Amino acid sequence: MALIVMKFGGTSVGDVERIQNVAKRVKAEFDAGNQVAVVVSAMSGVTNQLVDYVTSIAPLYDTREYDVVVSSGEQVTSGLLALALQTLGVSARSWQGWQLPVNTDSAHGKARIVGIEGEKILERMARGEVAVVPGFQGVGADGRVTTLGRGGSDTSAVALAAALHADRCDIYTDVDGVYTTDPRIVSKARKLNKITFEEMLELASVGAKVLQTRSVEVAMKHGVRLQVRSSFSDEPGTLVVNEDEIVEQELISGIAYSRDEAKITLLGVADHPGIAAKIFGPLAEASINVDMIVQNVSEDGKSTDLTFTVTKADLTRAVETVKKHMAELGYRELKSDSNVAKVSVIGVGMRSHAGIAQRMFQALADKGINIQVISTSEIKVSVLIAEEYTELALRSLHTAYGLDAED
Ligand code: ADP
Ligand code: ASP
Ligand code: MG
Repeated sequence: MALIVMKFGGTSVGDVERIQNVAKRVKAEFDAGNQVAVVVSAMSGVTNQLVDYVTSIAPLYDTREYDVVVSSGEQVTSGLLALALQTLGVSARSWQGWQLPVNTDSAHGKARIVGIEGEKILERMARGEVAVVPGFQGVGADGRVTTLGRGGSDTSAVALAAALHADRCDIYTDVDGVYTTDPRIVSKARKLNKITFEEMLELASVGAKVLQTRSVEVAMKHGVRLQVRSSFSDEPGTLVVNEDEIVEQELISGIAYSRDEAKITLLGVADHPGIAAKIFGPLAEASINVDMIVQNVSEDGKSTDLTFTVTKADLTRAVETVKKHMAELGYRELKSDSNVAKVSVIGVGMRSHAGIAQRMFQALADKGINIQVISTSEIKVSVLIAEEYTELALRSLHTAYGLDAED
């Protein structure tokens, strides 16, 4: 007998019939003699709709009320799944974030879980009850409802698995595992049987939304046995494992993209110590995350150009923040562009092999795709390109690194 956490994403609980299908899968694990806790997302599209309601009433919203609204989608599906299980004769109840509780900090809209109290549900599970927990939500140090950032139900599931010392955490979604790149864009993407935590972390952090980044961090930290698999088939999925569990390491494990990027360029910035701190300090104070940064070497030693990226949602605020400091920074002109995407190649093989970045640049050049910004880490190379070339870039890189599946 094992203790299992099963998580079902938005498409998997997208309508009543699918929720009934989920109930059958849960029942099968329960009937096999396992103790089961289930984490559910909101029905697909619901969270977007709720966010739209909020922003149409208040574009610069109070994040505490935002959380009250957007956390509600998961409340609905948790109740519906508990009902569907009961209908199948399985004893089940829902546990809202505040009831367990799932304790988080008070960073509304992007809260971090600080601890989950599992005693109550462990006791019920031991007595043969299935626990259904809405993902994405918790209760903050301020006593109010919080949400964990988009895609946060993955993190709810992994954190619950860690708190319950579960034997497995299975993430059921609308693809049957983690692929070399988004299989919805590149039809030749290949499913990986295993991927390391480290690679998964990088892939997630540069845009592969199949797992929320934070969920991979939590799984890595607590040694949660994590698997991504399909809600709609019985195919084995992808296991996320430690590096020593992978026998033959591929040079490149994946390619990811993010369209959620925007670029700001400051022309004619004074070239002297302290300027970068003056630019990025106010942005940090405004909780704006800056991702890629490039600064040109100044020709005359007096002024230079600086380019950086932020998320599309933060672009307006970032531009306003920088403009407010224009006098101090003394730049000549500010340009912004949200028609950009970031494409990243990830692989632990980069540590030991040269020429991987070069292959990327050549493949993009062959297709006439201009690289606007480059950034690298030990196992990742990212480039910023015009958004309309995203799909072409993904497909070309997938072929260039020999990742295409055979027909
Ligand atoms: P859920 O609602 O189940 O949480 P998501 O939409 O958040 O599902 O994540 C699954 C989606 O992630 C897939 O439909 C796929 O389009 C996308 N995706 C992006 N990169 C990858 C990848 N490397 N492997 C698998 N899926 C990926
Ligand atoms: N429903 C939330 C979202 O759409 C959380 C999740 O699905 O993981 O972002
Ligand atoms: Mg998701």
